[in-house]
Amino acid sequence: MRIGKYKLSIIESGFFSLDGGAMFGIIPKVLWQKSNPPDEANRVRLATRHLLLESDSKKIIIDTGMGDKWDEKSKNIYAVDEKFSMNSALNEKGLKAEDITDVMLTHLHFDHTGGSTIRNNGKLEPAFPNAKYYVQKQNLDWAIKPSERDKGSYIKENFQPLFESGVLNFIRGDQKFDDEIELFVINGHTFGQQMVKISDGNTTCLFCSDLMPFVSHIPLPYIMGYDLQPLVTLEEKKKYLKLALDENWKLFFGHDPEVAFATIKKFGEGYIADEKFKSFDET
Ligand SMILES: [Zn+2]
Repeated sequence: MRIGKYKLSIIESGFFSLDGGAMFGIIPKVLWQKSNPPDEANRVRLATRHLLLESDSKKIIIDTGMGDKWDEKSKNIYAVDEKFSMNSALNEKGLKAEDITDVMLTHLHFDHTGGSTIRNNGKLEPAFPNAKYYVQKQNLDWAIKPSERDKGSYIKENFQPLFESGVLNFIRGDQKFDDEIELFVINGHTFGQQMVKISDGNTTCLFCSDLMPFVSHIPLPYIMGYDLQPLVTLEEKKKYLKLALDENWKLFFGHDPEVAFATIKKFGEGYIADEKFKSFDET
């Protein structure tokens, strides 16, 4: 798919699993297990799906997934599927980590920035050696000093080396990145998460990140138990789902195990998915 000067491609760097109850908050299992069947440990499967935006001068990737720095215990807890990796996903597109010019980080949770750094001879380095990385300053500040409740989600080895090597660029608030790319700050899931909107006025795609990780999170009360401010998430969903409906946006899901993006339609007072797509070839 093309939007303005960018060619959009889907990169899938892996799969892992999280507790189904935590993924769906107050929604009863009898409802969410239909769309997201749990395993024997009550975990549901998550993809780590990225957008790759290529222009003549840039190759931008949004988020970096789980990465490969996990110990055996964590691999078991999160059922990290090691058949996949960012490098092999890039190779399938004829690219290497060296080719990436910009890494847009929606937030610094381990499943979004785990692949930002690699261990090389015991030393932590940026995984994309020629890239500038971007994050909201507010999210970095929180990531350095998270609460006791969410500190398990922020692992410093995934972002501290970026900061120290000077490749991490700070964004403050909503911002236009260039003619097609715009960043919107949301604060329900964590503080200073940014969504990425790519638009040329005709076609618009929103990288929802953890506002709505699965297509099944479109209905308004489907809000993760992880969220620090669930009622803020609710208001943010109302705001962006209305815009998505009014302006016919494609909503891109970073974690849905099947659906890459979808359009939405009205359903009662809320919304549900309309058309669902696994790849851009179907559009
Ligand atoms: Zn998150």
